[in-house]
Amino acid sequence: MGEVLHIVGAGMAGSEAAWQAAEAGVPVILHEMRPQVGTFAHRTGLCAEMVCSNSFRSDDDRNNAVGQLHWEMRAANGLLMRMADRHKLPAGGALAVDRDAFATDVTEVLSDHPLITIAPGEITDLPADGHWIIATGPLTSAALGRSILGLTGAEALAFFDAIAPIVHADTIDMDIAWRQSRYDKGETEAERTAYINCPMTRDEYEAFIDALLAAEKTEFHAGEESSAPDPTPYFDGCLPIEVMAERGRDTLRFGPMKPVGLTNIHRPADKPYAVVQLRRDNALGTLYNIVGFQTKMKYGAQTDVFKMIPGLQNASFARLGGIHRNTFLNSPSLLDDRMRLRARPNLRFAGQVTGVEGYVESAAMGLLAGRMAAAGILGRDLPPPPGTTAMGALVHHITGGADARTFQPMNVNFGLFPPVEAKGGRRGRKDRYPAYTDRAKADFQAWLAA
Ligand SMILES: Cc1cc2nc3c(=O)[nH]c(=O)nc-3n(C[C@H](O)[C@H](O)[C@H](O)COP(=O)(O)OP(=O)(O)OC[C@H]3O[C@@H](n4cnc5c(N)ncnc54)[C@H](O)[C@@H]3O)c2cc1C
Repeated sequence: MGEVLHIVGAGMAGSEAAWQAAEAGVPVILHEMRPQVGTFAHRTGLCAEMVCSNSFRSDDDRNNAVGQLHWEMRAANGLLMRMADRHKLPAGGALAVDRDAFATDVTEVLSDHPLITIAPGEITDLPADGHWIIATGPLTSAALGRSILGLTGAEALAFFDAIAPIVHADTIDMDIAWRQSRYDKGETEAERTAYINCPMTRDEYEAFIDALLAAEKTEFHAGEESSAPDPTPYFDGCLPIEVMAERGRDTLRFGPMKPVGLTNIHRPADKPYAVVQLRRDNALGTLYNIVGFQTKMKYGAQTDVFKMIPGLQNASFARLGGIHRNTFLNSPSLLDDRMRLRARPNLRFAGQVTGVEGYVESAAMGLLAGRMAAAGILGRDLPPPPGTTAMGALVHHITGGADARTFQPMNVNFGLFPPVEAKGGRRGRKDRYPAYTDRAKADFQAWLAA
């Protein structure tokens, strides 16, 4: 037997990684702690268990970035997409599946593969040698979490996410908003204009606070808060905005919405009563996050409340806010573009622990890590797919495109893709989405063929 690839975690990422590496001819040992050691969210000992919704989201590979990612995974002999197609349930344009049949089938296919051995048991320490992919997900066991922490340091491993909503920059109304950093701070023009500011009058602010207080909120699941090895409560530094508003109607106006050091270029004589700031979220400048706006409001409520912000009335959200138990690395500072830990290149990471979010994104990162690890063992180097593809856009984002200082988990979305320009100016969304996905398909095929 040749060199073995060890994969820790038989979730979405680990299952796909095992399949890809084994199909490339590399023997795999897939370590999974369930059912001996459980998590608060998993119910079974099966591979690729869907812990919550039974949907892989949109299957539209023409107009949707998740659908495009499905397409790329199918094109790359993805096991999870094949199993999802086999166990598909009627769900409009979404790819919903019979979760138990899906996970049972994935488990059987992996168990039956001549090059895959499923090894039950928890891995508690990061191994010093051998080829490894760590795909232990948002609920990485406490012991392994501590071992990862020992290597990365507390600054680079989080046990909760605190996600502020992210807006597509081209949907912000710049006739109302303006670019300016507080007190015009910065050495360069780009730094002095790094933020987008949305002004509020007193009436707008009061109505916004009322809506925040009235909005429906989600709760932590049972066991979610206590399952972190270091359950840093979200109350230090990343309080949900609605909790801040509950503490006093002016708390936000003296916190993330303070109006000081800013002048509304559209109406310089009017001093805003409060200002919502958005900060660039990716190197492309296509995405902006709303500063300090982490929230546990339900998704529907978030869109209603955030569209009350002047300038965001027509905003389209690349992702909405949330706070969850979620173990994830500060990948932009820790991983190279082959998904290896820079400090220990024998360790690759894949799945949600790398700072992507969702079943599909996690499986896609598993697909890539499995292929890259197999290529390495076989003496080849596999570069990531181009950033114009859905898979490439995601991996480029987590390993370099995202700002390491504010890194939070990310879904795949068109804001991660380099813009497509058309003759005579920007295209409308209707034309732009197929242009993204046509380009992605051609570039992904070329990457696969290379
Ligand atoms: C409560 C909750 C609800 C969610 N709901 C959704 C949703 O509706 N839709 C969606 O797209 N995403 C959802 N997610 C995110 C989802 O979990 C991930 O996107 C996806 O499962 C991540 O895939 P993964 O392979 O990275 O991790 P997982 O699928 O969680 O797989 C990780 C595996 O590693 C194993 N493991 C952990 N530590 C060790 C260890 N030390 N040794 C051996 N094995 C170990 C775990 O048992 C698990 O099987 C949810 C997450 C949570 C926590």
